[in-house]
Amino acid sequence: MTQTTLMSIPGQIDPVPVARDITPREDGRVDLIGLPKDRIRELFDEAGLDVKQAKLRAKQVFHWLYHRGVTDFEAMTDIAKTMRPWLAERFFIGRPDVVEAQHSTDGTRKWLLRTSDGHEFEMVFIPDADRGTLCVSSQVGCTLNCRFCHTGTMRLVRNLTPGEIVGQVMLARDALGEWPKGSMAGLEVEEDSAQYTSDGRLLTNIVMMGMGEPLYNFDNVKGALKLVMDGEGLALSKRRITLSTSGVVPAMERCGEEIGVNLAVSLHAVTKEIRDEIVPLNKKYGIDELLEACAAYPGASNARRITFEYVMLKDKNDTDEHAHELVRLLKHYKLPAKVNLIPFNPWPGAPYECSTPERVKRFSEIVFEHGISAPVRTPRGRDIDAACGQLKTAAEKKSRAQRDREAAEALESTATA
Ligand code: SAH
Ligand code: SF4
Repeated sequence: MTQTTLMSIPGQIDPVPVARDITPREDGRVDLIGLPKDRIRELFDEAGLDVKQAKLRAKQVFHWLYHRGVTDFEAMTDIAKTMRPWLAERFFIGRPDVVEAQHSTDGTRKWLLRTSDGHEFEMVFIPDADRGTLCVSSQVGCTLNCRFCHTGTMRLVRNLTPGEIVGQVMLARDALGEWPKGSMAGLEVEEDSAQYTSDGRLLTNIVMMGMGEPLYNFDNVKGALKLVMDGEGLALSKRRITLSTSGVVPAMERCGEEIGVNLAVSLHAVTKEIRDEIVPLNKKYGIDELLEACAAYPGASNARRITFEYVMLKDKNDTDEHAHELVRLLKHYKLPAKVNLIPFNPWPGAPYECSTPERVKRFSEIVFEHGISAPVRTPRGRDIDAACGQLKTAAEKKSRAQRDREAAEALESTATA
């Protein structure tokens, strides 16, 4: 079982359990997934290798872990045969457990995953003609209760660790069979990483748009994305990674500076009244403050625009006036912007409906007529509840009463066993 410690999340009042960077395993071995090269070197050092050996082995193991996707020390052919069992006795190379894998009729795939301490979360792969996008989760549940979002009705269970976040990308590469092959003679990694952008690869893009608010799990998301972007690691370009936030203003500048990925902002409304209702975080960080932070986002330019996500809710935020106000705001703050209109994806008991297709089209035209691109996102994987805002794991869907009942039953059965 993973031990969790209480740690406060910036901007949150309640401390939530956060797993440690090293997940203690029952067999005493240390899971290396999610650790950066320096940390691996430290661990090798502590386990008894001399400084030079620790450095060399860390470099080799790092490459095998993140660049080759190897999960068995025996496969690390440039490491001495006698050394491999020594490593396997002390260390482990894990992946999140797969509870269930589903395939949509449109090709979208969704995996229900489980952490070693038994929490379930989801990742989604969306194949397109010219790209394949993996939608990655950052938390189990979410502290923010956006009214249109199914994940928002779950309580926050805990932040995912860097290993659980990067583990999703690694698992997707496993499932798609996309680890580079060939030998790694002389650790010529630079040469090799160039292959990554080659066409024909299925997994080309990553969006931090799964369950949770990534900027409320900043350090772990940063740690994981560093491994994804590392040329000797998963080697995906930062231009192919997008982080979506509901507007955690104080963390946005750091995100641009320290992570440097593309930014997407869940704007969804242009008046205080409506945004307060549908994205309650707006009461803390209002629209003007949010757009000012966007204008200052490091690295944003006309070549690298900020995406503004706008969920289309019938009779709520979808009038012509709202579209005009959206244009005015984006121009007022001189934002290098594109707008992504998301038809609302329904879920049982949702308090909203999706705008009509005609309304969505008209809204898109108005924004477009003012020179801002505003495509309508095609919902993907709705049949397997994999579309935006539909992610919510079965375990957490159970009512409080049902959970309590199950817990009581479990106790009873251990008592009578
Ligand atoms: N927490 C982050 C990222 C995850 S949500 C955020 O809020 O930005 C990814 C996107 O899906 C967000 O823009 C979110 O607002 C949107 N979304 C949530 N529920 C939705 C639903 N039911 N239909 C359509 N989009 C939804
Ligand atoms: Fe959390 Fe994003 Fe859903 Fe809001 S839309 S509840 S921030 S996951």
